[in-house]
Amino acid sequence: MGRNYVIVSGKGGVGKTTFTANLGIALSKLNKSVVVVEGDIGLNNLDVALNLEDHIIYDMYDVVQGKCNVQKSLVSYNENLFLMPSISLATSSITSKQFFEITNELKNIFEYVLIDCPAGIEGGFHRAVIGGDEAIIVCTPTIASIRDAYKVSRVLSSYNNIRQSLVVNRLISELVADNKMLSPTDIANATKLPLLGVIPEEQRIALGSTIDKITKKCNVIEAYDIIANNIENGEKKIYNFQKDYSNIFHKVRSIFK
Ligand code: ADP
Ligand code: MG
Repeated sequence: MGRNYVIVSGKGGVGKTTFTANLGIALSKLNKSVVVVEGDIGLNNLDVALNLEDHIIYDMYDVVQGKCNVQKSLVSYNENLFLMPSISLATSSITSKQFFEITNELKNIFEYVLIDCPAGIEGGFHRAVIGGDEAIIVCTPTIASIRDAYKVSRVLSSYNNIRQSLVVNRLISELVADNKMLSPTDIANATKLPLLGVIPEEQRIALGSTIDKITKKCNVIEAYDIIANNIENGEKKIYNFQKDYSNIFHKVRSIFK
């Protein structure tokens, strides 16, 4: 039986969809079977993040309507990673119970079920998190995002005992070193959440690339690999963002030597 991870944030635009897609890829590199599920029904982005939008034939709404079974609706990204799409605008036509049943069925097929949840804490959010075994709360180092991460964590705690952890996305190490950006430890303390990982700001990700399409050795790939390893092996390593800064510092020093 697999585990069901809900990826949430409260605030929109912090990188949930990007994180879901790339964590799926990182886990698939460990030879784990993974399905990423579009939980933002009606405002799907996960298919775009994985560049699979032209390969969708059936979606979650077709499963609900009995037009196809769960397996038939899945779209393959690689041999280990699949997408459960939800592209129709019939947002309110999928009930929480139906969503729960489908994601539960996916746990029988895959080791990891990663659900990309909608922003906010309204109906669509509750439907998406209902079957979660664990929650990963994604936030960026901004006050609004941190406050919403804390609030979403409170909402989750209020109705079940789902295990929660924090991922700080888009960290710029130079700004942390200059005391211009909050550090991951500050953010973990403010949200009262255990830190699962840190992901640096990376232009190629902002331009829509996934980690497997970045050919050069790159910090963001390492950061995702560490998180996948933490999840799979129960480790508690955190990507050493300070090394990015010390590398730059070192380069500057060597110029002036
Ligand atoms: P959400 O699903 O939370 O609304 P998205 O995944 O759509 O957020 O990401 C919002 C924007 O942030 C996208 O343009 C995405 O490319 C960018 N982004 C996400 N993670 C990073 C990163 N580590 N570095 C740079 N840009 C990022
Ligand atoms: Mg999204």
